[in-house]
Amino acid sequence: MKESLSIVIPVYEEEESLPELYRSLKDVLDGLGVPYEIIFVDDGSRDSSLIILEDIQATDDKVVVISFRKNFGQTAALAAGFNYAKGDIIITMDADLQNDPADIPRLLEKINDYDVVSGWRKKRRDPLISRRLPSVIANWLISVVTGVYLHDYGCTLKAYRSEVVKNIRLYGDMHRFIPAIASWVGAEITEVETRHNPRRFGTSKYGIARTLRVVLDLITVKFLQSFSTRPIHAFGPAGLALGGVGFLISLYLTYVKLFLGEEIGGRPLLLLGILLIILGFQCVILGLLGEMLARIYHESQEKPIYVVKKVLGR
Ligand code: UDP
Ligand code: MG
Repeated sequence: MKESLSIVIPVYEEEESLPELYRSLKDVLDGLGVPYEIIFVDDGSRDSSLIILEDIQATDDKVVVISFRKNFGQTAALAAGFNYAKGDIIITMDADLQNDPADIPRLLEKINDYDVVSGWRKKRRDPLISRRLPSVIANWLISVVTGVYLHDYGCTLKAYRSEVVKNIRLYGDMHRFIPAIASWVGAEITEVETRHNPRRFGTSKYGIARTLRVVLDLITVKFLQSFSTRPIHAFGPAGLALGGVGFLISLYLTYVKLFLGEEIGGRPLLLLGILLIILGFQCVILGLLGEMLARIYHESQEKPIYVVKKVLGR
């Protein structure tokens, strides 16, 4: 039997786009000849998006509509979709007609050989200064920091093997980092060029402020990648180095005071020494606190520190 598909679409106030989106999506999916479901996640829209989705769902039992009580954000909407998805392959896309459902077959061609196929909006149709420029910088930064090189982290049109996303817990605005997080646990990632349309209806839900949030999320993701199972290794070395220098300074001042008989009370070096010792101590303590939190984090979620691909003979 062919592998089944779940299409996950976050919707926040996209009433004008939905009918056309549904129609074009349906055309493509029916043409594929595989079992599928379309999961719309209404992220607390206050326009008539939900009513339109309910009407669509009433006529089509392949459609699932999840509606949030309030606006929780695109990441939360995607996470809900992943949770409910039953397909072997999960495809995410935007509801605003900027992604083209006709690209789905091209993603699927690659999903047999890869775990994540990421869309790349090579000819992106968004404003240059407010969107494309920050995005070039963000993609470069994310690629360098995470070590997973993609041209277009921000493209929602992506295909995933379902076990990949089901194993990732999302917070903040972290959906864009799924490929990077997945790759750290061994997933194979590739890119496929996809089309991109200008937004025809409604307005973008994001402004330039998002860039700053992306940077903060990147710091979090990087920290979690490197240190989530051993936070003391992040803070410890700095603590030991600072404390060590502080200790040497104090040792020197003690020598000066005791053996050379000089006054040290007014020396700036004394302040520096004490400061470094305290800082160093605090860094180590922070690392230890981190260690305790890490254990609570992993054990409370029953989240192992490894990912098994398969087990033979058991
Ligand atoms: N979206 C959402 N919740 C939000 C913001 C956006 O579900 O709080 C959805 C939105 O309806 C669209 C997708 O996420 O389907 C991408 O949003 P948008 O098109 O505004 O982002 P852009 O394409 O401008 O980056
Ligand atoms: Mg858009």
